[in-house]
Order: sequence, then C-alpha cells, then structure tokens
Amino acid sequence: MPHILAFTMQKGGVGKTTTTLNVGVALVQQGARVLVIDIDPQANLTQGLGADPEELEYSIYEVLLNPEQGTTFATVRTASGVDLVPSTLALAGAELELAGKVGRELLLRKALKRVGDQYDYILIDPPPSLGLFTLNALAAADAAIVPLQVHAYAYKAMPQLEATIELVRELNPKLHIGGIACTLSDRRTILSQSVEKQIRSRYGELVFSTVIPVNVKLAEAPAAGEPISTYAPGSTGAIAYAALSEELEARYAR
Ligand code: ADP
Ligand code: MG
Repeated sequence: MPHILAFTMQKGGVGKTTTTLNVGVALVQQGARVLVIDIDPQANLTQGLGADPEELEYSIYEVLLNPEQGTTFATVRTASGVDLVPSTLALAGAELELAGKVGRELLLRKALKRVGDQYDYILIDPPPSLGLFTLNALAAADAAIVPLQVHAYAYKAMPQLEATIELVRELNPKLHIGGIACTLSDRRTILSQSVEKQIRSRYGELVFSTVIPVNVKLAEAPAAGEPISTYAPGSTGAIAYAALSEELEARYAR
C-alpha cells in the first residue's frame, strides 16, 4: 500500500506546496510511482505542475463530493511524471457545502481507499488553515511531514501543529509527525544557523539532514509550470529537493 504523507503546517508561505511538488517529482525520478493531491483552493500545486485549474473537467472538489468513486476519474498525468488530483478555485465554496455531510472529515480517506496499490506514495498539499480540507488531509494520512521555515519564530509553530495532530488522532490513531524539513534557510546568516541548531536539538532524529535553502529558482519555477528539476537542474534548490527525497525514501523504504 502507498505511504500517504500530508505536508502540513498551519502557516502559509513556509514551503508546503514547493516541497510537495518537488519531492513528488524527485521521487518519480528515483523510480517511485507518485500521486500528489492538491486540496487547497488556491490551487498552487496544480498550477506549479503546469495544469490549468480552469480547463480541467474534474478536481478534488468532485472527489470529496463522490468519495465512493475514488480519485482515478479526476487524476491527470503531468509532464513531470507525477499524477495529480488537481484543485480548483471552486473548492473554496465546497467547505460550506460539505459541512453538513456525515463523515465530512473522512471523505478523502474514503476516496483513497479505492486507489489501492497503484502508487508508492500519495502526497497531500493542504491549505494553511485548520478547516475541513486540512482535517481531510490529516485524517487520510499515515504521517504529517512538516516544512518548518528556518525563521526566528519557527519554534512557535510546532506546539499548535502538535495539538492539531493530537486532535486528529481521534479520527486517525496512526497519525504522527513523520519528519521535519527545514525550509527557506539562509545559512549565511547567524540567525538561520542558530535557529536550525535549536530545531535539531529539540526534535532530533525527526529533522531531515537536508536543509532547503532560499533559492530564487524555486520561486520562479511555479510560474513556468515546472518542477525545479527541469526548470533549473543543478540549482541549489534542485540538489536539495533530490537529497530530501532520498532521505524520505530511506525512511519509507519500499
Ligand atoms: P506554502 O504552500 O506553505 O504557502 P509555498 O511553497 O507556496 O508555501 O512557498 C511560498 C512562496 O515562497 C512561493 O512563492 C514559493 O515559490 C516561494 N518559495 C518556497 N520555497 C522557496 C525557497 N526555498 N526559496 C525561494 N523561494 C521559495
Ligand atoms: Mg501552499
């Protein structure tokens, strides 16, 4: 069965989408079969993979409304080789629509049960808010992978996330933090170095050795609709995401 990982942090702009996308593509390049799921109404993951949310017939919206049909009907193969369940701006309205449904937090889990063993990894990109979409992502996941921005207030973000995971464990007892990836690091600064050191001393083995640096190519690639590995192969961002994916593979050996 696939490893289902939700890239989670209750804060925007920390590298959730960038990490889901580039780890997904790097895993494909390492030979894995990967499905990525965009469950954020902003549809950044969808656009970053070169898909146009306006042009797609089905999206995660229909998947959540009809979980008994699985995800296959909404899945598209992207140029990078990862399969994508895209998002759509219309998803924003679905939160209210789904609010009255019984088992509304378990819709994605139900849909993914139908996927079977077609994939080695299913990576989910939820929005920053703790709404129905994030709950669906965490209720469906085996583990949360946390992109933690190397920033003065980094340590403040973790207790809230840990509390959320504790809460979701009532729906999904196996949920745990599977790893912490330091993102947006500028190792040339003393502050970055000292924050990274604090993160490592506090969370130990959970923290991946690989650190994702600030790299302008990573910021440019989404506009081209490409992963970093083709947009700027050899860039520090491309090298870092390939290394992070190898670490992930080592943790979740197939
Ligand atoms: P989130 O999904 O957590 O909101 P994103 O992955 O969308 O965060 O990243 C926020 C913004 O920062 C995006 O414009 C993205 O392109 C950019 N970005 C992400 N990671 C990096 C990085 N390592 N270096 C430079 N820019 C980055
Ligand atoms: Mg995002």
